[in-house]
Amino acid sequence: MALAEGVLGIIEEAQRRQGFAQVCAVRLEIGALAGVEVPALLFCLEIVLTHSVARQARIECLPVPGSGWCMDCAQTVSIATLYANCPRCGSAQVQATGGLQMRVQDLIVE
Ligand SMILES: [Zn+2]
Repeated sequence: MALAEGVLGIIEEAQRRQGFAQVCAVRLEIGALAGVEVPALLFCLEIVLTHSVARQARIECLPVPGSGWCMDCAQTVSIATLYANCPRCGSAQVQATGGLQMRVQDLIVE
């Protein structure tokens, strides 16, 4: 629910700055390692946005793949979970670097 309220906060702030009448679509980037359950997030957003300028908005979720820095390979590798081993060398010395966040990428307004 906190995530959905954060999205609402971003929409309200954008609305104050730009003064649009309504939001048609909200594009969310959802990192594979962010621990976001998309169905739960969509459910919360539906409730939170009911009385906002985004009540009609279509929610688009754009997945962002997880990536990490393998210290043994000294390069960026793709990982599916936060504490995954390196897919190249099997090392556990992988620091997650990408796909860690959920963020509002774009608002389509009118
Ligand atoms: Zn490696």
